[in-house]
Amino acid sequence: MKIDVLIIGGGPGGSAAAMFLLREGITPVILEQEEFPRFHIGESLTGEAAQVLRRLGLGEKMDEMANPIKHGVRVYGTNATNSWYVKVSARDQNWMLSESTTWQVRRSEFDAMMLKEAETRGAKIMRGVATRALQNPDGSLRGIAIRYPDGREEEIETKVVLDCSGQSTFLANQKVTGPKYMGSYDKQVAFFSHVRGATRGSGTTGEMAKDNTLIFYAKKFHWAWFIPIDKDVVSVGMVTPRANFLEKKQTPEEYYRSELFSINPELPRRIPKLDLAEKVHVIPNYSYQVRGFCGKGYICIGDSHRFIDPIFSFGLTVTMREGEFAAPLVRQYLEGKLDNQENPFAAHQMACEKGIDNLEDMIDLFWEQPFAFSTFVHSRYTEQMTDAFAGRIYEFEHQPSPSMLSFRKLLKRTREYDADDYSIPIGSRYHPERAPLWEPDSPVAGTEKWIGRGRGMKLAET
Ligand SMILES: Cc1cc2nc3c(=O)[nH]c(=O)nc-3n(C[C@H](O)[C@H](O)[C@H](O)COP(=O)(O)OP(=O)(O)OC[C@H]3O[C@@H](n4cnc5c(N)ncnc54)[C@H](O)[C@@H]3O)c2cc1C
Repeated sequence: MKIDVLIIGGGPGGSAAAMFLLREGITPVILEQEEFPRFHIGESLTGEAAQVLRRLGLGEKMDEMANPIKHGVRVYGTNATNSWYVKVSARDQNWMLSESTTWQVRRSEFDAMMLKEAETRGAKIMRGVATRALQNPDGSLRGIAIRYPDGREEEIETKVVLDCSGQSTFLANQKVTGPKYMGSYDKQVAFFSHVRGATRGSGTTGEMAKDNTLIFYAKKFHWAWFIPIDKDVVSVGMVTPRANFLEKKQTPEEYYRSELFSINPELPRRIPKLDLAEKVHVIPNYSYQVRGFCGKGYICIGDSHRFIDPIFSFGLTVTMREGEFAAPLVRQYLEGKLDNQENPFAAHQMACEKGIDNLEDMIDLFWEQPFAFSTFVHSRYTEQMTDAFAGRIYEFEHQPSPSMLSFRKLLKRTREYDADDYSIPIGSRYHPERAPLWEPDSPVAGTEKWIGRGRGMKLAET
């Protein structure tokens, strides 16, 4: 089979990229290994994620689906003695700031809607697993070998592959890209489930709105989230260092049940009874960076090349925005306008990397200096922080802003971008001189073992 554009992965990154490609006059094929709907984590959207959906003409659909409306995020400090709030915002064409709203989503439904919508608009959906990358001797990608659900195998020749495989990082695992490094938060483990009957805010708009995201800070690297995903159910997750989990020698569910309420006193107040509507899921080692994630014939999108830390809900924003940025470049590439360059997507790679560097500086400062961070949010750089929290992180969105530069100063970090047009982060643990290469499948506890299942590692049940 010969096609122009193959998208590996039918998550929101792949579906959004497909819809933007269709607008460019390109009909992509999306290859998805799982039957939808399927459970997935990542339920809170930023202001800019909502703007992407509105640009795709999906705003009304999101409302019809009765996705909860998010007005902002409140972060509770240790012991819940103080808290700060950031509202969801938007910028118009004249860069005027206004209050806005976004959505919280149940991912099984949201992802299924996005994939269906891409199909309805003309994308072809193929059920199957990408198993192998087919490369030319010069390293350019010429296609992908796939396996269909009935076991049949086929080599597909394609001009461009968009890797939207999420935490599976397909092209990085196939060594088509540069190396994959452990990220700064690689020793964290997230435990999460859906909870019935939790106590939400009492209002309908603004700070008190019932469907806002709540973040609970305990101490460095210990935190929890509270994200309403429908009228009755709230996604509640807890993140702790892996070492803490290993010490307790408990199953993930035992650990979740016993530790959740010790994160912050606001949690037992919000969840008087832990009534689970979903099993307890686990994701370890979610923090990594893949270098050289674009090249002749391929672009990695979103989680398939980098993920830092989920604390401020940037994942969907980044993956959908990168899909939007990639679409016109893919068209130019197919028209032969970018063909002669060694890496036709180098400028895109650099722009994406710089954007995520900004996120990383913001998240690192939150963990390293939470008090300074909250002061910046409260008073010193309120407007700029509102932009960053909304996911306006790219150069054309006036980044790095003075607040971002202050973060770097406090972190004693400079960002230099080398002659190969590539980001060399200074001070992060994933820097090649300091960070270990990615090691999948490290056993963590007793009779349980890590297993690879599509979107990253899960703890096998015993
Ligand atoms: C603990 C945690 C909490 C998070 N919370 C949030 C949040 O609140 N808000 C937010 O925006 N983000 C959050 N994220 C991040 C979010 O989950 C991801 O950024 C987002 O799902 C990425 O979307 P995607 O489409 O790029 O990848 P995915 O949603 O992971 O989709 C990838 C798809 O590719 C398919 N696939 C993979 N490999 C293959 C293959 N070889 N062949 C065929 N198909 C394949 C998979 O089946 C999957 O459907 C969180 C992440 C973690 C770890």
